Amino acid sequence: MTATSTPADPIDHEALRAKYREERDKRLRPDGNDQYLEPTGRFADLLEDPYTERVEREPVHDHVTVAFIGGGFAGLTTGARLKEAGVDSVRLVEGGGDVGGGWYWNRYPGAMCDTAAMIYLPLLEETGHVPSAKYTPAAENFAHARRIAEQYGLYEHALFSTKVTGLEWDDDASRWTVRTDRGDEFTAQFVAMGTGPLQRPKLPGIPGIETFAGHTFHTSRWDYDYTGGGPTGAPLDRLGDKRVGIIGTGATAVQCIPHLARGAGELFVFQRTPSSIDVRNNHAIDPDWFAGLQPGWQKEWQTNFTVLQTGGFADQDLVEDGWTDISQRIRDRVVVELSKEGAEFTPELIAKAFEDSDDEKMTEIRARVDAVVADPETAEHLKPWYRQLCKRPCFHDEYLDAFNEPGTHLIDTDGQGVERIDETGAWVGGQHYELDCLIYASGFEFGADITRRSGYETVGRDGELLSEHWADGMRTLHGIHVHGFPNLFIVGITQAANLISNITHNLTEAGTTIAAVVGRAVEVGADQVEVTAEAEAGWLAQLDSTTGLFGNLDCTPGYYNNEGQAFSERDRLNGARYAAGPVAYFEHIDRWRTSGDFEGLEFR
Ligand code: NDP
Repeated sequence: MTATSTPADPIDHEALRAKYREERDKRLRPDGNDQYLEPTGRFADLLEDPYTERVEREPVHDHVTVAFIGGGFAGLTTGARLKEAGVDSVRLVEGGGDVGGGWYWNRYPGAMCDTAAMIYLPLLEETGHVPSAKYTPAAENFAHARRIAEQYGLYEHALFSTKVTGLEWDDDASRWTVRTDRGDEFTAQFVAMGTGPLQRPKLPGIPGIETFAGHTFHTSRWDYDYTGGGPTGAPLDRLGDKRVGIIGTGATAVQCIPHLARGAGELFVFQRTPSSIDVRNNHAIDPDWFAGLQPGWQKEWQTNFTVLQTGGFADQDLVEDGWTDISQRIRDRVVVELSKEGAEFTPELIAKAFEDSDDEKMTEIRARVDAVVADPETAEHLKPWYRQLCKRPCFHDEYLDAFNEPGTHLIDTDGQGVERIDETGAWVGGQHYELDCLIYASGFEFGADITRRSGYETVGRDGELLSEHWADGMRTLHGIHVHGFPNLFIVGITQAANLISNITHNLTEAGTTIAAVVGRAVEVGADQVEVTAEAEAGWLAQLDSTTGLFGNLDCTPGYYNNEGQAFSERDRLNGARYAAGPVAYFEHIDRWRTSGDFEGLEFR
């Protein structure tokens, strides 16, 4: 980058823009999302559950009040709130062998939550769990999921290692019929689904990928039998004589690469786009300090984080992390600009403050690479050239240092990806890298196409399919209720707060709302609860769907911006959010469910 900076502003914003465009253009490809492969056919075994042996059982034919599809934090928080509301008959149906969702599947070494445990781990006050550290490891998050299930009796009716194959509404009986791949066919008065936006692994569509004859797995199905070690951090002691390749340098790879770098004989990191690696600064939580927190603290912390993360003001930053840092920089810059004579609060002023803060942040992140990575050429390749929120920001204190290990080789593909794979390894820039093992840290299918993600159809009133109702995009009230699908609840982030920096906050709020609705139905003896067509349409009309998911087409491609391709109207609806932002959404939904009116719903 040519530097034409002034002493007052050491960053050359124009030159940065040009560099960002140049790097993005290298990565744009016409096939967008179609570049990825589904793990089917030859790759179907990559989706098997390596953690729990499938045990044969008799099919279930009974009735429950609520069936929840998905045993992750969505199902657990909803289940907990239902139990608190006195609804005892709750059944989780989960494809994995236990509860935990993402924390069940993702057991790769170093897996950890990037959102502070104080606000991320749900129901901390209710369970009394003291997080071990500011950011907790995957094993602790998984154990917390199990704790919630134990405490609230959610194991009692649960069906694990069981995939739903179909859901069908029976209007006469006011019940859902749930069918599964275990031959179960049971009924439920209410069905809720929290099947997660990052649940279906995807593979890079690299020519020859099916020919690799060495060992291979996806990070969400880590093969500890092959690597040695374990999910709580034991060294990967079976890799000492192995040449290991890893494809991908996203949030997952950033966490497992330091472990691979220590364990593998040689490690080849195939990089298409570097991640931004901000500081992590993890530290232990002092139980004495924790014991002094006042009742209601978790909600206060979550609200404080959400307010600051979305540009609001608070007396104190309770969480103090990378998410609140960038937003406060932007906010403070807006305040400074507004204090200048003649300044007006305009979208341009905010956009400029955002851009300047971002340039400052990313300049620091690139400087950190130089400070940590010894080899200047490797350091240069590890620098991210895009705005921080174009891709999932990463936070790590050992990732960059892993490239100082003598056996670790960064194979930068200059934005092009691995050229091809053959029986013995991978090709980049005309050079062949021989490998014993190839690990795919290639991420997950993202999006709101719930039928594809969950693998079953939902048949509502008069035989209408949910996939048809949503053919032109998702349509809900509050992201939860769907017209034509009585007694059905969707649990996710879309068409609601859409707070990606703390997913569980969205889920807990949805769970609390669903428990209130079911509680009301039980109280008034209603067989059916359904959103009116008007209320659904009214909600859609006031959502913000102008920028699609989170992305910006100027960004380097990735799942945040639909791989750099224009958003269809459908994509926009599938990524829409409450226009006034997460804080306002949480306030709105709290008022809505506590007012007792449940405006927009019909109880009959
Ligand atoms: P990502 O989709 O973020 O990353 C996939 C990686 O694979 C990218 O680096 C991508 O490169 C690379 N890739 C894809 N195709 C090719 C190819 N042909 N050649 C070379 N490289 C290729 O997946 P992750 O599993 O890392 O993360 C997914 C999400 O999971 C995160 O965004 C986050 O939301 C969540 N997560 C959360 C964590 C937490 O702390 N809570 C921890 C880990 C993950 P490119 O960037 O160029 O597309």
